[in-house]
Amino acid sequence: MKVLVVGGAGYIGSHMVQTLLDAGHAPVTLDNLSSGHRDAVPGGEFILADLADRSALDAALAAQSFDAVMHFASFIQVGESVRRPDLYYRNNFAHTLNLMDAAVAAGVKRFIFSSTAAIFGEPVAVPINEGHPNAPINPYGASKAMVERALADYDRAFGLRSVCFRYFNAAGAHPRGHLGERHDPETHLIPLVLQAAAGLRPNIQVFGNDYPTPDGTCIRDYIHVMDLCASHLQGLEWLEQGKPSQAFNLGNGSGFSVLEVIRAAEEVTGRSVPVVHAPRRDGDPARLVADAALARDLLKWVPRYPRIEAIVADAWRFHQAHPASR
Ligand code: UDP
Repeated sequence: MKVLVVGGAGYIGSHMVQTLLDAGHAPVTLDNLSSGHRDAVPGGEFILADLADRSALDAALAAQSFDAVMHFASFIQVGESVRRPDLYYRNNFAHTLNLMDAAVAAGVKRFIFSSTAAIFGEPVAVPINEGHPNAPINPYGASKAMVERALADYDRAFGLRSVCFRYFNAAGAHPRGHLGERHDPETHLIPLVLQAAAGLRPNIQVFGNDYPTPDGTCIRDYIHVMDLCASHLQGLEWLEQGKPSQAFNLGNGSGFSVLEVIRAAEEVTGRSVPVVHAPRRDGDPARLVADAALARDLLKWVPRYPRIEAIVADAWRFHQAHPASR
């Protein structure tokens, strides 16, 4: 299938381009390179364009016949979204409407969207399944929930069928070592812990040690980026088979505390990671763990890299191979 991968120069998008290439599909990356990297796109055509530019989107979608659009391009920092909701609603919601409108205008019928566990807000039940109420507590989560809602309405009105994947904590890197996480600034736990292990930062700050969890630190469900990409291929098949729009939660169903992740990183790297305890970060629920039974049942999705050590080991391999991108 010919697939437009929007945000294909970013962390998850670049792994998706590789996954599509490996599966024999034809990805075309569209990215504005605001945070992505041109050299991260592992193959296929590249279009430099911004989601704000509707005519550029129309031109890209009119130039060839796409079987599907996959949308990975968004701002991802929860704290920043609280300070600058304008950026998040505009980029993550309004600009996504541009893309959806352009897809409808071009006659594209399938849309796969990167959503997030942040749409659920403070969980009322864990593990979190698709029946959990949507109650985002920050503009990042709200902007993604708004896209999910708009996609449901576009399906009814315009026949644009979609799959929304709510990622829990995306982590890891391509096992071949050529693709990985390169955010600037980096805010995510695993790359920061690995930078500390490599001596590139003096320590790792642990945000809060008084949560109601066994060791007092937050618990998250870390899911390997390759497992996320595998689910997208299955989502593509799901839509190709004419099945209805559907949202899926994606995680391993097992949670690891911040201190457990640090211990896993020490084990994998063979280095010690100095820990500094810091205040809680705003908007961090104590425990986020996915119930991904629906994806397992309907898509036959089975994570191949569920072990936290394997996730950290792949991230470490990329980190060591790419000193320039640390
Ligand atoms: N975290 C931390 N120190 C850091 C970065 C993150 O203690 O320098 C914690 C954070 O509070 C959360 C977990 O690590 O409990 C995962 O955070 P991350 O930013 O990686 O992902 P998020 O859960 O925000 O999607």
